[in-house]
Amino acid sequence: MNAYVNSVLNNLANYNQPVFLQAATEVIRSLEPILSTQKKYEEHAILERLVIPEKTTIFRVVWIDDAGKANTNLGYRVQFSSALGPYKGGLRFHPSVNLDVLKFLGFEQIFKNSLTGLMIGGGKGGANFDPKGKSEAEIMRFCQAFMSELAKLIGATTDVPAGDIGVGGREIGYMFGKYKQITGHYDGTLTGKGLKWGGSLARTEATGYGCVYFADEMLKKAGQGLQGKVCAVSGSGNVAIYTIEKLHAFGARAVTISDSSGFVYDKAGIDVALLKEIKEVQRGRVSDYAKAKKSAEFTPASKYKSGTNGVWSVPCDGAFPSATQNELSLQDAKTLYKNGCRFVAEGANMPSTLEAIEFMLAQKDFFFAPAKAANAGGVATSQLEMQQNASMTQWSFDEVDKKLHAIMKNIFHNSYETAKEFKYKGNLLIGANIAGFQKVADAMIEQGYC
Ligand code: NDP
Repeated sequence: MNAYVNSVLNNLANYNQPVFLQAATEVIRSLEPILSTQKKYEEHAILERLVIPEKTTIFRVVWIDDAGKANTNLGYRVQFSSALGPYKGGLRFHPSVNLDVLKFLGFEQIFKNSLTGLMIGGGKGGANFDPKGKSEAEIMRFCQAFMSELAKLIGATTDVPAGDIGVGGREIGYMFGKYKQITGHYDGTLTGKGLKWGGSLARTEATGYGCVYFADEMLKKAGQGLQGKVCAVSGSGNVAIYTIEKLHAFGARAVTISDSSGFVYDKAGIDVALLKEIKEVQRGRVSDYAKAKKSAEFTPASKYKSGTNGVWSVPCDGAFPSATQNELSLQDAKTLYKNGCRFVAEGANMPSTLEAIEFMLAQKDFFFAPAKAANAGGVATSQLEMQQNASMTQWSFDEVDKKLHAIMKNIFHNSYETAKEFKYKGNLLIGANIAGFQKVADAMIEQGYC
């Protein structure tokens, strides 16, 4: 391994932050081809600077539950890089949130945002709060308490958070209301806003749609298409729902959904209207989907199983991991391949382990679309929301969707051509990482040491 890469990774190993280390290892190792030919990055200590967030804030969040009891959580904002624009990246509310997880997400976000070609830096935030089982009033009080601190850190031209796991339109609404009350500003500081008060059409759909646009472009390059492809999708949240919707629009058939309790295999194809009703209206579980389907048209092949591992054991042509990090292991990758799967497009952030990625990239007849390229549609459309807010306009759904489609095509071709330029034709992981890195690193050099 390149000595520079080695020394940066060795230093990182001392941090005891395994998830961040995994993300950093994936990126930094893949930069070897450019680091060994262009010494300026080492001379300007770019990697050493990039792996340290510009600013990290950890704060206490105190909120009152319905019984009148005070509860405490930890809130975070990791402002990783402002080389290309205001910090931009979602907020995650989940019990597993800690600094390690947010550093991994914020680090990924730097390169993803760079790849979109738009002016956005990288950041991430959230809290170790579990929205599951909380009342509407408790969710609102938590969001308001969280924003009481976060408001001191963000702004339309400094840091613009969005949603992520556990943070959807409802939570963005409560946080935006509080932000406005504290600052008196009605601006584009949060994205993923409601359509009546500054949101962008197609933002809700953007990550899932974008991932499918990317997969389509990738398959087209190989003379194939999504038409008729059977696809396994994990998760049942924002990314999964709109991945499935767009897959069906392209003539593919998505046959699975999952959550942290179990998964559904619906061989006839997931019923998107039913899924939306259960997840977006009733806020139910995938087991509720199976129950509802059972009463209507249950077939032996349409079933619910508890436990999440099985989602990758279903025969399919392609897989769209859209739930969470490290949900696709080496064993899962081997099972998918054995059962006929020939492409993976990552909707979630870092859903595949390093070993799984290595296996997928080693198969000559396999296409792998890495998260930071394939799921960049969400943040790209968030930036389109910022553009609309800044000019006090709202574009039509079609207008935003066309821009999203063009951005995803561009990310694919940029990643593909960069991989080819560095003699790794077809390796979109290397292509995306180098293309994303180069722009940020060059900006850092031009902006001097800070
Ligand atoms: P949501 O909260 O809307 O949905 C997450 C889904 O994943 C839920 O169905 C959840 O189930 C499931 N899930 C979580 N953990 C597990 C697990 N261990 N095993 C199986 N299922 C699990 O989040 P999003 O759809 O917004 O985000 C999904 C992924 O996509 C995340 O990695 C996120 O960072 C990434 N992403 C999201 C973007 C966006 O625009 N929303 C943009 C780019 C990336 P349960 O309800 O049981 O927890």
